[in-house]
Amino acid sequence: MTKLSAPKGTHDLLPPDIALWQWAEAVMRDSFARANVHEIRTPLFEATELFKRGVGETTDIVNKEMYTFEDGGQRSMTLRPENTASVVRAYNQHGMDRWPKPVKLYYMGPMFRYERPQQGRQRQFHQVGLEVFGVDTAASDAESILLAWQLLQALGLKDLTLKINNMGMPEDRHRFRQGLRDHLKDQLGALCSDCQARYETNPLRMLDCKNPDCQAMYQKEPIHTYIRTDFSSPDAQAHFAEVLALLDAMAVPYTRDPMLVRGLDYYTKTVFEITSDNLGAQSAVCGGGRYNGLVKQLGGGNNDVPATGWAMGMERLLSLLEPPKPQGLDVYVVSDDIPTALQWVTQTRQAGFRADWDPTGRKALGKQLAQADKLGACVALLLGESERNSGQVIVKHLASGEQETLAAGEVLARLGQVLHHTRVCL
Ligand code: ATP
Ligand code: MG
Repeated sequence: MTKLSAPKGTHDLLPPDIALWQWAEAVMRDSFARANVHEIRTPLFEATELFKRGVGETTDIVNKEMYTFEDGGQRSMTLRPENTASVVRAYNQHGMDRWPKPVKLYYMGPMFRYERPQQGRQRQFHQVGLEVFGVDTAASDAESILLAWQLLQALGLKDLTLKINNMGMPEDRHRFRQGLRDHLKDQLGALCSDCQARYETNPLRMLDCKNPDCQAMYQKEPIHTYIRTDFSSPDAQAHFAEVLALLDAMAVPYTRDPMLVRGLDYYTKTVFEITSDNLGAQSAVCGGGRYNGLVKQLGGGNNDVPATGWAMGMERLLSLLEPPKPQGLDVYVVSDDIPTALQWVTQTRQAGFRADWDPTGRKALGKQLAQADKLGACVALLLGESERNSGQVIVKHLASGEQETLAAGEVLARLGQVLHHTRVCL
């Protein structure tokens, strides 16, 4: 029989590595709670239509990266490649425009994209993201960027670069796109086939191209100067200047990058990306920006609902962190009587200690003690026949080998004293 393994581009998360995930998730949840941001969990699959309309037909995600299938009722479904479209769908479905503004939501969970697996690129990967609805101010953009920046600092990430750009509003972009086409129409033959296709469907994405020849072309005059000129309306320019001023005031360093267009169709005004110098080719840890048209585009009535947000790739950012030391066990219960051992292991767990035992019930006491040592337990509770008969427990301190005999009723208090001290060292 062929050996079964996880699908290409997916990973099992096992102990002890899972400890890093749990720690990072806890840091993130805490940061969000302090910013009054609440969690939303949407389904892992949605109608394909949602992503086609929400992410955009001309994006790489919709064009070539979606896991799409037909369900039993012949409906086309897609495993979510990102979460913003789903969150906006939920916002509209549940009438969140009637909630007090701004509505601040975060999510955490797996996303699915059919990409070529490589370092920093999986087919199932995890994102954590923020979405803020209902406010169109530069202050809201700045707060959102600051939350991402601080979250990465709280995790201990270093050597980060924040790149930021102003994409203007759709009408500004329309003009910019036309100009881009005019500047490039005679050079098309020199561009890669992807860029030739993007020229027709989504010329802004050409600036995103990773091909060095294309990049060299975009650095030439006069196209270079054209790309660096801000064609957006005075309103969008003032908005962007205010975002930058707020970042300055908060001492968040940034680089203005006119080549930063982001892959998705829905952005308006501010877009940004946070990269790490310590990642290889796949250096983007976080990407986001403002998306004022998306709520209406996905059926949210006649009015635009302004929104801003970002998403971070968990695998990429966790690859930059040191794995934490595995947490040791506090207590190992050693006994030749299963009901007694089960009672003590349950009682110590309820009292807040990390406790384990031998559920086979077959190992000799000496073997159980050896297992306690192997698991790095601080203390073993010995409950042999004579202790059970006398209502006592031997507390053995495994590091020193010293032991003390206590009345059963005194044990939890003693563990509290001893383990309070050792836990600090763990
Ligand atoms: P890239 O340019 O690397 O393809 P992207 O623009 O497609 O990124 P977004 O859709 O903005 O990425 O997703 C936000 C973050 O999610 C990225 O910055 C990255 O950290 C992470 N990410 C995206 N795709 C993958 C993937 N296939 N595997 C692992 N992480 C990913
Ligand atoms: Mg991508």
